[in-house]
Amino acid sequence: MRILLVEDEPEMAIALCAALQRHGMLVDTAPDLSQAAEALRQNVHDLLLLDRQLPDGDGISLIRLARKYRADLPVIMLTARGALPDRVAGLDLGADDYLVKPFAIEELLARIRAISRRPSQLVLPTATVGNLLFDFSTHEAFVDGVLLPLPRRQMLVLEALFLRHGRTVRREVLQESVYDFNDEIQSNALDAHVSKLRRSLADSGARADIHVIRGIGYLLKERPDVREE
Ligand code: CA
Repeated sequence: MRILLVEDEPEMAIALCAALQRHGMLVDTAPDLSQAAEALRQNVHDLLLLDRQLPDGDGISLIRLARKYRADLPVIMLTARGALPDRVAGLDLGADDYLVKPFAIEELLARIRAISRRPSQLVLPTATVGNLLFDFSTHEAFVDGVLLPLPRRQMLVLEALFLRHGRTVRREVLQESVYDFNDEIQSNALDAHVSKLRRSLADSGARADIHVIRGIGYLLKERPDVREE
């Protein structure tokens, strides 16, 4: 899951970003409305975390813009204003949820999980291909119920493939799911992560494989059970 965090207080932004990354999420940050608008235009995020009081205006004005690019983009407002009219205004303008500062990171994670479970959203709680299961709320993969430990980038590759499984995932889409704006991307780095992930899957006995569709992208497919052949 790739998150856009719009927050102007550097300490808050750094702490939130680190906590979300520790929980397996990819996070981009924007300190004001104009940089946030620029980031939204790329339409690569699965969730918007939005502070309201920003140096160049009210974060609430970004909700409409965000929905222009992705109609079902979940939005959680992070606000110092606990006053009821402000909260109602945010929800009226289409925010899915809000948290009043200060809040515990556990509470934010719980709200993100709750939003991810909503059936209208793209994100599903779990998905399976063969004997491989991916849990979108914990960002963990299991083979026959046994946890498959994966480094962060491999996990992000697998998550992106699971989100679109049954379809070929274009290389650029996969790249956007695995790297944030600050990452320096080497041209063959994505292929390296994919090939390591394929090996991890094979070594763990997963009956799922990543097919490389030349010039187009990648496809996660069930692999026939060799023991039955
Ligand atoms: Ca602020």
